[in-house]
Amino acid sequence: MTKPHSSFYTAKKNPPVQYTKSYSKTYGTAWNAAANKEPKYTSDIRINHGKITPLTEKGKGVELSTEALDLAQNILCRTRPSKDVRTHAFVKEYIVPAVEQSKHVAYTRTDAYGNFEVVIKHDKAFPTTMFTAHVDTVLPATDKARYQEVMYDATAQMFFKTDGRCLGADDGTGIALMLHMIKSGTPGLYVFFHDEECGRIGSSAYMAEVKSHKKHAIHHVTKCVSFDRKGDTDIITMQSGRTCASDAFASALSTQLHDVSELKYTASPNGSYTDSYTFIDMIPECTNLSVGYKYQHGPSEEQHIPTFDAMIKALPFIDWEKLPAERDPKKPEPKASFGGYGGYAYDLGARSDDLYEYDYIDEYCELVPLEDMEAFASYDVKVDDMSAFITLYPNLVARVLVEMGHDIDDLEDAVRALFPKIK
Ligand SMILES: [Zn+2]
Repeated sequence: MTKPHSSFYTAKKNPPVQYTKSYSKTYGTAWNAAANKEPKYTSDIRINHGKITPLTEKGKGVELSTEALDLAQNILCRTRPSKDVRTHAFVKEYIVPAVEQSKHVAYTRTDAYGNFEVVIKHDKAFPTTMFTAHVDTVLPATDKARYQEVMYDATAQMFFKTDGRCLGADDGTGIALMLHMIKSGTPGLYVFFHDEECGRIGSSAYMAEVKSHKKHAIHHVTKCVSFDRKGDTDIITMQSGRTCASDAFASALSTQLHDVSELKYTASPNGSYTDSYTFIDMIPECTNLSVGYKYQHGPSEEQHIPTFDAMIKALPFIDWEKLPAERDPKKPEPKASFGGYGGYAYDLGARSDDLYEYDYIDEYCELVPLEDMEAFASYDVKVDDMSAFITLYPNLVARVLVEMGHDIDDLEDAVRALFPKIK
């Protein structure tokens, strides 16, 4: 198939408002279809912004950790869409006061974009590790709710939701972990970024601002750790097909995590991208750590509480200052090619100008056992029409999805949520 040239796309490009429209449409069909499936978990406890209600006998006997309760009641129960006043209010009303309670903080600052930074020094010196989480979640702008409720399955030890919205553990869990580290006095430059989900806009604005400030704390940073990865094992060493952290760094962190907790984290090259990617040309080690959520960006999103509790216990005991910083961020790296590391590599969203140099989507599709896909037995006219369109314009569709803030990870998760039989 010939690739559509980028000028073709530009010529046909609809005004941004059209994206919002079709985004809501997507959200309302595929995503809700997943929400209407048989519930995977039992609602043993319902957690609201101000109230906890046991719904089953089992739910009555459950005791959640203070941190897990805070995560549910104060973070996950609040809707936090990108570029939205509710999300800025959440930072002001919850994150800022929580940080101000910590006696370890040297100073805090809100940048021009609204990103909130916190510095905890290491023996009076600037810390060498930056920690990031993002405050926004995937929620259509048309959804005006301010609060939402969270369910807990006592057997699976899982937070989940039943109303068709995403849980927001991506990246509410990252926020909770950072707040705990700040409370514990773990040295670091902490930044709570806005608008990661719509293209790392907050972290890009932050970097543009601090880069030229010679005295900014960031110039002491040699490691940038995002807490924004699904699952419970990954120390990301490649994002969007580019090496972002050295094996030495990943291995040292893996050893330390293993020493202080039950967690078994290992290096993974399968990262798409998160805020630490923004600093890849500036900071030697830019990683992303699994925090225990899954199926993010859709109604099946879930957060595994034992993973969260283990991270809460472990993170303040990691000697972040001691971790090695070996990767040379200034050294240009040849672009990754498809299949470059035994799995797949991609560069979606990272540099959209370059998108048309690749046929990732076409090649990626070859890896999926199509005959196993339940969608192909649906005989649904809408699905067939859509499928025909995607076959005709795969790169174009990929471009539109990236513009809407999606990446390979969340598409994969949406597919798995709808078709759980796919391995
Ligand atoms: Zn995220």
